[in-house]
Amino acid sequence: MRRTAPGARLALAILVLSRSLAAESPKSAPVDRVRADVVRLSAADWQGRRAGTEGADRAAEWIAQQMKAAGLQPGAPDGTFFQAFSFIDGVVLGPGNALAVSGPGPRRDIAVADFRPLAFSAPGTASAEVVFAGYGISAKDLAYDDYEGLDVRDKVVLVLRYSPEGDVPQSRWAPFMALRYKAQTARDKGARAIVVVTGPNTAHARDELVPLRADAALADAGIPAFSARRQVGEEMLRQAGDSLEAAQKRIDEGKKPASKVLAGVRAELVADVAPKRSTTRNVIGLLPGRGSEAVLVGAHYDHLGLGPFGSLDPSPDGKVHHGADDNASGVAGLLELARRFAAAGPRERSLVFVAFGAEELGALGSSHFVKNPVPGLDRIVAMANLDMVGRLREDALDVHGVGTSPAWRAFVDEANRGPGLKLRFHEGGYGPSDHAPFYAAGLPVFFVFTGAHEDYHRPTDTADRVNAAGLVKVVDLAFGVLLAAADVPQRLAFTRVPADKEEQQTGSRGFRVWVGGIPDYSQQDPGVRFSGVSPGSPAEKAGLRGGDVLVKFGEKEIRNIYDYTYALGERKPGDLVTLVVKREGKDVPLVVTLGSRPGGSR
Ligand SMILES: [Zn+2]
Ligand SMILES: [Zn+2]
Repeated sequence: MRRTAPGARLALAILVLSRSLAAESPKSAPVDRVRADVVRLSAADWQGRRAGTEGADRAAEWIAQQMKAAGLQPGAPDGTFFQAFSFIDGVVLGPGNALAVSGPGPRRDIAVADFRPLAFSAPGTASAEVVFAGYGISAKDLAYDDYEGLDVRDKVVLVLRYSPEGDVPQSRWAPFMALRYKAQTARDKGARAIVVVTGPNTAHARDELVPLRADAALADAGIPAFSARRQVGEEMLRQAGDSLEAAQKRIDEGKKPASKVLAGVRAELVADVAPKRSTTRNVIGLLPGRGSEAVLVGAHYDHLGLGPFGSLDPSPDGKVHHGADDNASGVAGLLELARRFAAAGPRERSLVFVAFGAEELGALGSSHFVKNPVPGLDRIVAMANLDMVGRLREDALDVHGVGTSPAWRAFVDEANRGPGLKLRFHEGGYGPSDHAPFYAAGLPVFFVFTGAHEDYHRPTDTADRVNAAGLVKVVDLAFGVLLAAADVPQRLAFTRVPADKEEQQTGSRGFRVWVGGIPDYSQQDPGVRFSGVSPGSPAEKAGLRGGDVLVKFGEKEIRNIYDYTYALGERKPGDLVTLVVKREGKDVPLVVTLGSRPGGSR
């Protein structure tokens, strides 16, 4: 057992320091400062700070100025406050996109206004016979398979959007309505390309092209994928002596597939798409300590911009998503912590303050930092993350990561003597925010969160709804915890949290199967890279390791996170599946016994 004496001395130091700082300035000052910072960051002129936009760049410049004013030194390797990185931000269409239909009737070139590649289309060409594959759904659980008895190998597949029961997003068909799913299924069945149209009988669904919007998974679907206006599908069926309306009716009425080869009807297509690269930045400030080690504090400053990607608003396009709680509040807290530490004087360990970019696109900034850390990861002893700390209600605060080091609980209990918050402890170090890459890399993490609310990821997440006094209480707690982490003599021990204590935080589509590999959402090359593996999980038992890139799951080729999600959705707990992962340039086969998803969900 370790002695507790150094901890007690430290606790006293925290109390004395907190009191002396509080006495220096009028009590309202921190509240006014954090409120002003939230207002500034979430104001409409920065347009929701989407990574890669001018608004995000201006926010980054402003944060650097605040860090400098607080007395922080530039922390990036080039002597500035900025660590730039690039990412794939959707696709751009080239001039060569083309679609033509030919067959027994005359060849018809489709006007460019009547078709469009989907955002996840692979570039490429196809010239092949067309197969009508209904809704493009192959769902064992629903006893429905548009591909049953159908050979689509090297064909162009025409499918309808939505499902035989319409376009209701809450229905059991929902996972199978996703265009990603339809494209992946067509590719797995051997198709060369896919064209989707909206059927004439689908109620309310308008005959529109799918907008070319950025998509969370950065890898493409592996085949050219187009959306087209209804007349394109009608042309294909007419040339085969049928009609789109009749074909859809045959399926919908009996809820039975009615797929068919459109004999003699050919499609020629060219998908001229290229990934669009954007650049954004992490903002890094430093307060040097006496020793060589460091404690890192992070908060992402980016948000959803003008939508639609990531938005929960039913018609988000063009609306400013202010992101006052998510995560202007965390950045305001980060800056307030920087001011307090600057005023407190040097600690034993350095403090590194990082405002991360591109969190909303998949923790891209924190993942980049972990791969390019300053200082080295071996010198960082712990990471604290503030994401959504502006909605404190009834003084209740969620504290995550307390299982990632035995030191946290004592630090937190001590630090909470001032603010007196009602703490809800969570062991796990994973979760959908910037601390997860640090935990995956083997660091103790500490994450505070004031909870979900109805304005989350909506344009209504505005500054006037932020509880600034509550935010200061969160800062009070975080300051005490970080002070202990910065001064405690012995290095914080790291512990992996058992899988059954890791909570499932991301929205599930109802798939129950569990593997336990932690996907790296910043992966841009084909495959799914795992940044880590949950202890005791099926993945760990199978020999999967952090850094492995999954390229095959059973018979399914895996090019991106969607492929993996859908492949899991087709399996049951207890199934034995052979995975192929790329490890140091070699294909390594691993056999995994699928588990069922542990823990509760929130
Ligand atoms: Zn966030
Ligand atoms: Zn968010």
